[in-house]
This record gives sequence, structure tokens and C-alpha cells, in this order.
Amino acid sequence: MQRQTVTILGATGSIGGSTLDVLSRHPERFEIYALTARRQIGKLADLCRRCGPRYAVVESPADAEELQTLLAGLPVTVLCGPESLAYVASAPEVTTVMAAIVGAAGLEPCLAAARAGKRVLLANKEALVMAGDLFMSAIRDSGAVLLPIDSEHNAVFQSLPDSFDYGLQHCGVRKIVLTASGGPFRHFPLERLCDVTPDQACAHPNWVMGRKISVDSATMMNKGLEVIEASWLFGVGAERIEVLIHPESVIHSMVEYYDGSVIAQLGNPDMRTPIAHALAYPDRIVSGVSSLDLVKQAKLSFEEPDLRRFPCLGLAYAALHGGGCAPTVLNAANEEAVAAFLEGGLRYSEIASVVEDCLASVTGGVAEDVSTVLAVDGAAREFARAAIVRYGRKTAT
Ligand code: NAD
Ligand code: MG
Repeated sequence: MQRQTVTILGATGSIGGSTLDVLSRHPERFEIYALTARRQIGKLADLCRRCGPRYAVVESPADAEELQTLLAGLPVTVLCGPESLAYVASAPEVTTVMAAIVGAAGLEPCLAAARAGKRVLLANKEALVMAGDLFMSAIRDSGAVLLPIDSEHNAVFQSLPDSFDYGLQHCGVRKIVLTASGGPFRHFPLERLCDVTPDQACAHPNWVMGRKISVDSATMMNKGLEVIEASWLFGVGAERIEVLIHPESVIHSMVEYYDGSVIAQLGNPDMRTPIAHALAYPDRIVSGVSSLDLVKQAKLSFEEPDLRRFPCLGLAYAALHGGGCAPTVLNAANEEAVAAFLEGGLRYSEIASVVEDCLASVTGGVAEDVSTVLAVDGAAREFARAAIVRYGRKTAT
């Protein structure tokens, strides 16, 4: 067993917290190199006192100064800004990077870790959706090891043969089935969806997560992003990726083989399972997750997703079919729309409308390099913000 030196990008978030919990159970295996957060200075200072990283990274110089004051006397170097995120993701001492920043902000540090040949534990699905081709090329070229943290993709990975090498050609796979809980609005009256509040949308029945992914789970854009994520991670087209609603969130996803065998991964819905799996892979370690009690569970049920209720899922499939930078446009528009919804500036049902308008109007092009991707991301955000203002005016009149 080789000791790993770990950077956690997004340490103050939901995935960051679960990762720290698993790491704390295995001090002999893991050492923490860097913890990063956007703002949450008080929380990051507490984590630094508890875990003793060598580096802490925040967004702004002012926050860095405040954090430095809070950590006076401790041997933690405080840094700030995007270059510092890339530095702690790629420093030679680091073996393992947990990529758990939410949204497009995670792209560049994720790429830095991939290019530096790290063991990359990918939670930040938006990075792969925005720039899948570039990201997967960086992984292949550097010989990095990419392990999925998203519970569905981790389940698929666990259900594939050991010979899997980022492509399903030789694995005998007929299709991948991603399960989805259906979120809090699975049976909510369709005509009342326009009036749901951010707190209602964030009240996920099975998982406790950050607010952005919680809204994405309610709209099922999360599953749409995951379909795109799966197509890059497993090298498979949209036609072989199916989505199935499974409200109990016990089966985390499945792989169907040509001979009719279906292999699934099951467990309690707790992100510490995929995190522990990826941290220790190919070993197995204790994660703190309790045993699955199928007798108590008694029933597992399944439904087909209704695209009228979940238009974002259809939009994600359309973006994947569109190819090029269409998924970048989808992701950027969704991030802007969800942020506006969480701030009270857009109705829930208008999230899908903003994304649809944006996909129809912003041309994706080919993702040749990071600057092309970031330019498309910027153009899509600008269009989406203008659309959000238009929808806001319509609501006011
Ligand atoms: P969260 O909102 O709880 O935490 C996000 C983290 O990213 C925080 O530490 C925050 O400080 C940091 N961050 C946010 N914006 C930033 C910026 N501009 N620059 C630098 N850092 C920034 O989110 P989460 O629920 O932990 O999700 C993190 C990622 O993992 C997302 O991409 C999400 O889709 C994915 N994911 C989460 C879960 C889950 O159960 N929470 C499951 C699967 C995948
Ligand atoms: Mg998931």
C-alpha cells in the first residue's frame, strides 16, 4: 500500500466533507496536501486546524489575508486565485486530487490534475460536460488515472470488467442504465411547478447535496449532465445510455451485457461509498456507511422518466447528439439559470426554457482547446443572462 498525498478541490462542500470523513478513518493511508474553498473562510480555517494541510487556497486576496490571520502560528501556506488552484492540483508531491468544485470553475484545476498525471477522483461532472474531449485526451496523454465519484458512474465502473480501459468495445456491453431518484417533484402537479421555491427544489428525498446539484436533481438536468459524463467516461454513444427512475436510490446504476446479464452496484445512498472506492481502488476500505438492509428496504421500484415533466433531460440528450461545444452551451446556460432561480430571479419552470433558447441560439463549434471552450461558455452565459432578464420582465407584467 502506497501512501497517497491528497488535494481536495472544494473541501468545504458536501463532497469535500464526505471525503474528509473517509480520509480521517485512514490516517495511515492518506496525507492531506491542500484544501480549497471559494469563500467560507471560517469553515476552511476549522478544517485546516483539524487536518493540517500544507496549503489552503481561496478565491480572493482579501479572503486569503483573513484566512492567514485565522491560521496564524500554523504551518499552512495560504494562496488565492485560479493559478493557485491549478498549482495545488498538479504539484509534484500530490498523488491524488479530489475534484469537487461545483460548476465550470472546476474545469481548469481538473485539467491541471489530468495533465500532471494524477489519480483524479472526479465529482465535478460539469468539467467533463464542458470539455470532455480535452479532458479525456489529457488523461490519456499523461497516463493519469480517472476514477468516477458520481455515484452512478462509480457504480457503472464497478460493474465493468477489470479490462475496461475508457472504451466499451471489448467489454461485451449492450447498454448502460443510469438510475435517477426522480427528485422531489416526481409526482408534483405539473401546472404548479412554475411556483416551486428554491427550498422545495433543494429538499432531495434521498441525498444531502450542494444547492446547485440539488436543483439539477429536481429538474433532472443532473441526469442529463450524467448521460454526457457517461458518454465521455465510458466511450459510448447516447443510444446506449438509458435513464431509469428508481426512487429508492439503492441501485446506483447498471450495465447490461450482450448475453443478457445485468450487473449492478447497490448500497445505501451515501457518497462516502464511491469516495472510499475511488480513494482506495483497487483495494476496499471502511467508509463509515452502514450495511444495506434489503429486508427493511423491502421494495425497489422503477419508472420511465417523463420528458414533459423533465424537459432538461431531453435537452441534454439533444446537446450530446449535437456534439462539439453544444454540451458546453447546455452547461453554461443551466448554471446561469439555476443561479438565477436560487436567487429568486427566475421561475423553476423557466430553467429549461432558458437552456432551450440558449441551445437554439448559441452556436457550439468544435472544442479545439480550452480557450475555445471558455469563449463558448462565456457567450452562452451572456445569452442566458439576457434571456433570464426577459423572462423576469414577462413575469412582472
Ligand atoms: P457544494 O456546493 O456543496 O460545494 C462546492 C465546493 O466548491 C465548495 O467547497 C465551494 O467553496 C467550491 N466552489 C464553488 N464555486 C467555486 C469557485 N468559483 N471557485 C473555487 N471553488 C468554488 O457542492 P457539492 O454538492 O459538494 O458538489 C460538488 C461537485 O460534485 C459538483 O460538480 C456536483 O455535481 C458533484 N457531485 C456532488 C454530489 C453530492 O452528493 N453532493 C454527488 C455527485 C456529484
Ligand atoms: Mg449522480
